[in-house]
Amino acid sequence: MEGVFPPLEDPESPICSAKGCRLPAVWVLAWNNPKLHTPDRRKTWLACDEHREHLSSFLDMRGFLKDVVRLEDWESEPNGPQAPGN
Ligand SMILES: [Zn+2]
Repeated sequence: MEGVFPPLEDPESPICSAKGCRLPAVWVLAWNNPKLHTPDRRKTWLACDEHREHLSSFLDMRGFLKDVVRLEDWESEPNGPQAPGN
């Protein structure tokens, strides 16, 4: 690896949404509260590996959880999922 990457302290880098957690986010939890949001609306939480289970079960218990996607896949998905490949 010899590319130039932004520093890890980059304030733009997403961190976990769990209370008090400062770890970099690895997962995107997409959710929707049908009492507040239209069905096509998606709220997102970010989660590190450690809190993915905790946060997703919190949403799932309430029936809000729609999707759990790796952050890298979420960001690279504006045109739909890429073909599985190579
Ligand atoms: Zn976390």
